[in-house]
Amino acid sequence: MQLKSYWHDTAPAFTGAAGGAVEGDFDVAVIGGGFTGLSAARSLALAGAKVAVVEARHVGYGGSGRNGGHLNNGLAHSYVAAKQHLGESRAKALYRALDDSVDTVEKIAREEAIDCSFRRAGKLKLASKPQHFAAIASNFEAVHREVDPDTALLSAADLRGEIGSNAFHGAMLSKKSAMMHMGRFVTGLAEAATRHGAVVFENAPVTDRAKVAGRWQLTTPRGRLSATNLFLATNAYTEGPFAHFRRRIVPVGSFVVATRPLTREEVAATMPGNRTCVTSLNIGNYFRLSPDDRLIFGGRARFSATSDASSDETSGRILQERLAQIFPQLEGIAIDYCWGGLVGMTKDRFPRAGEADGLHYAMGYSGHGAQLSTHLGAIMGEIIAGKPASNPLGGLAWDAVPGYSGKPWFLPIVGLYYRMLDRIR
Ligand SMILES: Cc1cc2nc3c(=O)[nH]c(=O)nc-3n(C[C@H](O)[C@H](O)[C@H](O)COP(=O)(O)OP(=O)(O)OC[C@H]3O[C@@H](n4cnc5c(N)ncnc54)[C@H](O)[C@@H]3O)c2cc1C
Repeated sequence: MQLKSYWHDTAPAFTGAAGGAVEGDFDVAVIGGGFTGLSAARSLALAGAKVAVVEARHVGYGGSGRNGGHLNNGLAHSYVAAKQHLGESRAKALYRALDDSVDTVEKIAREEAIDCSFRRAGKLKLASKPQHFAAIASNFEAVHREVDPDTALLSAADLRGEIGSNAFHGAMLSKKSAMMHMGRFVTGLAEAATRHGAVVFENAPVTDRAKVAGRWQLTTPRGRLSATNLFLATNAYTEGPFAHFRRRIVPVGSFVVATRPLTREEVAATMPGNRTCVTSLNIGNYFRLSPDDRLIFGGRARFSATSDASSDETSGRILQERLAQIFPQLEGIAIDYCWGGLVGMTKDRFPRAGEADGLHYAMGYSGHGAQLSTHLGAIMGEIIAGKPASNPLGGLAWDAVPGYSGKPWFLPIVGLYYRMLDRIR
């Protein structure tokens, strides 16, 4: 078993990074080389801006190269809960932004000829308990009536042709949802941004920023650059001189294992519907097949703010047990990859994008950002470039998490709380 991301291991590395010192004068400096930053850089370069991406490690190092591979439409919350929290019109706008996000990824992949196995697979939100099916059904009614007719409610019997597991009591199907090879997309996005004129600096963590004669100056160990505007695209991995955002973003570990490729018979017996699947527990699981028919199976596993080799391996063992509970026919199957990454949560689990602390930003996708990060990156790029674009999150307040400055000491307590909820509800 390799302790590395399947997406990192099976995608071509990005080879277009600028060598030499970090230097130059730019219209915009984008901090962070994941989907958000690269998509913004692409749209800024297309709008004619002189743009640099400054990435602490390598393109796709963060969540963009470590996720579960789902491009789901629909919200991280139930739509009903989102309406209560945000009000009807913003909840609708956000739901539609998620739809648009999947379209944006598809459009970029097509326009830039990125070979990333994008496929409108549809997503199943699976009820892990009988009472969860009632909640899924009532959410489905509101979604289907008000925002997304491309949805269906499936009973436990309907699920037989979809998934080879007796663990579920029905599901909501969202047909617009998609999947793709995340590693190939992030490399392709970086190549597209550079092709359109963006300069990408890797191994260049921003350690300081200062306004000098009306322009931002960014310092990295490899040199300094200046820019008129900054766009922060660092999400859960935010480090350096951005304390304002570290008080608002909570990094939470999420972990994934990938099995050896399944045989055709095993695919038919486990994932005949070949969709993206998400379970309804608070500490739930997400899974799908890879382009080469591995089961890519993820989940929070433990409430940890750390993803390193030892933390990922411990979580991987928990995930293997869970995988075998859902698919007993795969008990003991060889695991080829095990990895983890950090999800950027906000207190209310709604994303944020806008302008604060002297810069533009988009982040806080709360585990639901592969598509939205690409979309919001493109929108924020257009806004910075002065083009008419509408930010679906514009004006949404974002307060600091009380008593928090970047080290989430409260995660074990939150984990216990959700574990208890999963036991009793
Ligand atoms: C295990 C896991 C599973 C997930 N599964 C899914 C899924 O299936 N579907 C889905 O929609 N979403 C999923 N997500 C979430 C999704 O991957 C993220 O929302 C998305 O990738 C965020 O992209 P980003 O570009 O904003 O951030 P990232 O890809 O995390 O990029 C941020 C970058 O900023 C860099 N950085 C940080 N600080 C600095 C600095 N000071 N200077 C320079 N660079 C800096 C980091 O090195 C990093 O590369 C998952 C996340 C994880 C971790």
